[in-house]
Amino acid sequence: MNLDPNILRRLCTPKRALIVSVPVRMDDGQIQVFEGYRVHHNMTLGPAKGGIRYHQDVSLSEVAGLAMLMSVKCALMALPLGGAKGGIRVDPSKLSRGELQRLTRRYTSEIYSVIGPDKDIPAPDVGTNAQTMAWLMDTYSQQTGYAVPGVVTGKPIEVGGSLGRVEATGRGVVYCLIEAARVLGKDLNENVRIAIQGYGNVGSAAAKKIQKIGCKVVAVSDVSGGVYNPNGLDLDALNLHVQETKFVKGFKGADNITNEELLACDCDILIPAALEGILHAGNASKVKAKIIAEGANGPTTIEADQILHERGVYLIPDILANAGGVTVSYFEWVQGLQQLFWSEKEVNNKLWDIMSNAFERVHTISKEKKIDMRTAAMVAGIDRLSKAMLARGFFP
Ligand code: NAD
Repeated sequence: MNLDPNILRRLCTPKRALIVSVPVRMDDGQIQVFEGYRVHHNMTLGPAKGGIRYHQDVSLSEVAGLAMLMSVKCALMALPLGGAKGGIRVDPSKLSRGELQRLTRRYTSEIYSVIGPDKDIPAPDVGTNAQTMAWLMDTYSQQTGYAVPGVVTGKPIEVGGSLGRVEATGRGVVYCLIEAARVLGKDLNENVRIAIQGYGNVGSAAAKKIQKIGCKVVAVSDVSGGVYNPNGLDLDALNLHVQETKFVKGFKGADNITNEELLACDCDILIPAALEGILHAGNASKVKAKIIAEGANGPTTIEADQILHERGVYLIPDILANAGGVTVSYFEWVQGLQQLFWSEKEVNNKLWDIMSNAFERVHTISKEKKIDMRTAAMVAGIDRLSKAMLARGFFP
């Protein structure tokens, strides 16, 4: 792509990274200290944007890598936003609701100086949700002295959230599958079998939308393991089971399988929607799916990418496939600034326009340059970003 070497050097490192200690009084009266991060990768196009992750494996390098993906993703989707990410190294399933609230409020207060509606706008990611965003928004507003809903997206509707935000990432994954089927000349009908790893926000919303367009979800999994039914899962019954037991494992309408078995199961489309690095050199050759849509960020290692490419698997990369989330986050921010809220239909129609345009751009680059979809998506995103960086010039 003839990338300016100076731009490349600047994109290789984040603009800034903040590490904070987050002391929390636990329910037993003791104080525990957690480590938290907020990284701004690039802010050329606008305020930085990116989720906050609560997970026991969160590290500065993981957060920095995810922040870089956000910069390229926002540029690819033509959003006026930069890239950021944050996180706390904590297993949220081990904390009570009160502890989670105190953790979130203290973390917000520690990163207060670097976030804001014109600076950096967090959103949910693994282990966080609309409630987490409401606590963040409230803490930020308390310290500022007035309500600042624009400081986060993915908020509850009652405090300025957008209709369709919760489902947006999963929905966007399916929009990409519709586009992929179109360019590959395939039909998305009841014979198409889809497996989803990770049944959280992204995975469960994707499953719901897949059912709506008439395909079959044959397998899903979470951290507890997976379930598989070659005739298709009854999602309503599965959701009830998850509501009662928190996990998909043990669902009566299917056989229990492991996460590794899910990745290799008999299916046409695979959607990894959990964590990074789950498709690697050790299992990529076992994948039977002919299409992969990356709901998660970075689920495929570089080695696995090569193996899948050589085997002719059509892969829709993360920065395109899961960009529905940041796109509707952008809509939420815009609606908040205008104080004018859109109907869910309007949100979904606008999401479709942006996703299908981005898909078409990436597909065209991939065909013209004879490169895979991941490289094409990176080219599209970095090209837009580098042009903006060159136009703004270098300081001082
Ligand atoms: P979530 O916390 O709602 O769900 C994560 C799911 O993954 C859960 O079902 C969990 O049990 C499962 N999981 C965790 N560890 C696992 C493991 N080792 N093996 C199998 N499953 C495991 O998180 P989410 O918001 O759905 O995010 C999932 C992925 O999508 C992440 O990579 C995230 O960065 C990416 N993403 C999320 C959004 C969003 O809007 N939430 C947007 C873009 C990308």
